[in-house]
Amino acid sequence: MNATQKPYLSIVVPVYNEEENVRPLYEKISTVCDSIGLTYEVIFVDDGSQDNTYEVLSELRDTEHNLSIIKFQENAGQTAAMAAGFEYAQGERIISMDGDLQNDPADIPQLLEKLDDDYDLVCGWRKERQDKFWSRRVPSIVANWIISMVTGVAIHDNGCSLKAYRSEVIKQVPLYGEMHRFIPAMSTVVGARITEIVVKHHPRRFGTSKYGLGRIWRVILDILAFKLILSVFARKNNLINPNTQQHSFHRYLNPHINVYRVAALFSLPIFIIGFFLIKHDINSSICYLALGVLIILISALTGWSIGISQVCTADLSPFASFFIHRCARRPIRYFGPPAALLFVTGGILTFLFPYYGQILLSIGILLFFIGLFGETIAYANAKRVIDYQVDIFLDAKDDGKHVDIYS
Ligand code: UDP
Ligand code: MG
Repeated sequence: MNATQKPYLSIVVPVYNEEENVRPLYEKISTVCDSIGLTYEVIFVDDGSQDNTYEVLSELRDTEHNLSIIKFQENAGQTAAMAAGFEYAQGERIISMDGDLQNDPADIPQLLEKLDDDYDLVCGWRKERQDKFWSRRVPSIVANWIISMVTGVAIHDNGCSLKAYRSEVIKQVPLYGEMHRFIPAMSTVVGARITEIVVKHHPRRFGTSKYGLGRIWRVILDILAFKLILSVFARKNNLINPNTQQHSFHRYLNPHINVYRVAALFSLPIFIIGFFLIKHDINSSICYLALGVLIILISALTGWSIGISQVCTADLSPFASFFIHRCARRPIRYFGPPAALLFVTGGILTFLFPYYGQILLSIGILLFFIGLFGETIAYANAKRVIDYQVDIFLDAKDDGKHVDIYS
């Protein structure tokens, strides 16, 4: 590959404190890619590592010409690291994989082959996953089952980072928060044709996993948020016609209508309960009625905000700005826990002091909806606000020249 040529394949590897893994991983990747004779670049995204990951990578880059390094100022998370890699990738085809040697580069040729069978996204399935049984594999099986139910995308292993993409498709998919676990479902919004193949998986030999049991709760919140996002943004039968191959994110948006529809769907039963209860207890019915009205109000604001984000390219609406900047783009993470707490306390209190119990319960439900609708706004603006700050970008073609794009 000479300096002006673009590589056919870009391999994106997010790394956070993987100093012992990056060198052997690069060697494995290059052995495989050299053997299939494709032009390629390997983009390591150093997600603010505190160990010597960056030093090892830049040392490696002194001798290797197809290695790019994107170094973040601070840890921004695996999704942000993947998003940055996709953004900078130049290849027609992109492969993402973990940087801890758990995924095997030997699977690259099969992934690419499958992509050529007219697919936009080929997911790896770690059928024989080499992780702890109770804390990792069981939650993952349950989560994948729920995700396939909720999203309608029947993939066995959403959490496997080893995936292959057509560049023009993945570059359109909005990624934020920890949404890298939902890439297959996210891709349906742009009409991607998705499939999976079984891939190898190895136990981690060096370094430690970056996630603990806390991820189970976070994934549950993400699934709920994601359900709403899909019902707002994805239309049924949106899989593109393979003959036309037109991918367009905006083509599938119909936010105004759908946001109201979803709001109405959720608010209606609450209204009905409110009316039903009027016969028995005026105070509680007022609570439910107020709640229904507030949810409709929030949904209207959401529709308005998403509407603005579609037509206006410069500024965020104040509503969007609140969810993106004040809630670090993860409103459900901020509103979810207090909402759950209020919901449970309110529920218990209802038996002793029905009036106050119901007020707490209603506020809990309301907060939860604010978080959920906030997620749809964050999603609508995902492509406009980035989650990471690049400290150093070393391009594969630059031959050792440091480019500090923020100076
Ligand atoms: N990772 C990252 N940023 C983070 C957490 C993880 O770039 O904040 C990288 C990590 O270095 C690894 C990949 O994402 O290359 C997957 O992480 P890990 O192996 O810890 O996840 P697990 O395999 O335990 O699910
Ligand atoms: Mg791992």
